[in-house]
Amino acid sequence: MINNYSLSHRNQEPESGVLYMVGTPIGNLNDLSYRAINILKNVSLIACEDTRHTKKIMNKFNITNNLISFNKHNSFSKIPRIIKDLKQSKSIALVSDAGMPGICDPGENIVQAVKLEGLDVICVPGPCAALTALISSGMPSSSFIFEGFLPKKKIEREKALSKISQNEKTTIIFESPHRLKNLLRELLNYCGGDREIEIARELTKKFEEHIGTNINNAIKSFEEKEVKGEITIVIKGIVKSKGNDLMESELKKELKELLDAGLSLSSASRYLAKKTGHKKSIIYNLM
Ligand code: SAM
Repeated sequence: MINNYSLSHRNQEPESGVLYMVGTPIGNLNDLSYRAINILKNVSLIACEDTRHTKKIMNKFNITNNLISFNKHNSFSKIPRIIKDLKQSKSIALVSDAGMPGICDPGENIVQAVKLEGLDVICVPGPCAALTALISSGMPSSSFIFEGFLPKKKIEREKALSKISQNEKTTIIFESPHRLKNLLRELLNYCGGDREIEIARELTKKFEEHIGTNINNAIKSFEEKEVKGEITIVIKGIVKSKGNDLMESELKKELKELLDAGLSLSSASRYLAKKTGHKKSIIYNLM
């Protein structure tokens, strides 16, 4: 039973028995909010992904407080202890290494577990790489799709890429620098070289860069370079015409007929790709 709680008349923060999910900088330490500093200074303890990392922020803002580690390896075993502390009226802040805890970071599961115990969770908003990249890209941002890191397993990854190729909304994805070139090649294969893209590198940091225009140009700009730093990718959605929908349903129909006639999905897709000029991977993923 999730508590009904009013946010408009909160007492002085931090309140006892409350879990605060606190957003922290994604690079530029000056992005830590005044409210976040107050919470981090005054909670009973801070649960953080990496104590060394959080200590850097604490030193910068003269925050001294108790730290416990809460990361992807120990989060499930730490949740009961945090709930026990909250029930004993402690106030706790949870932070990740960067940005909003819970966005591809530890923190997602604890909110539900704490709320199920009837305890309060308050989010203290801060920077988020996905939104920072989206806004700086200038692409449509009122409605968008955030995919996080794409799956590594082949079939799931192909499905995700195929979905992205058909998205009408802007898509945001995270990728590590050493896998970026491979991802760009995959995007070329699924979306075509003309698809508008922006690669946001090192957001809010000294060497912040926005590389893009389209997939072909993005590939060219990284051709001779080692990719370094943190990367978020923003991909523009397609404009789907009625004709496109019709084409997709006709392709599906033909594909199904070929499969019913005994062809493998791979052979049927290859045949239709030759016949229609569409990419085999797109046809393959229609089923
Ligand atoms: N919770 C974080 C947030 O709210 O932004 C995201 C954490 S996720 C584990 C880390 C990924 O976020 C990185 O691999 C990168 O894709 C993206 N990222 C984080 N900081 C970034 C930055 N300064 N510039 C570009 N991308 C960044």
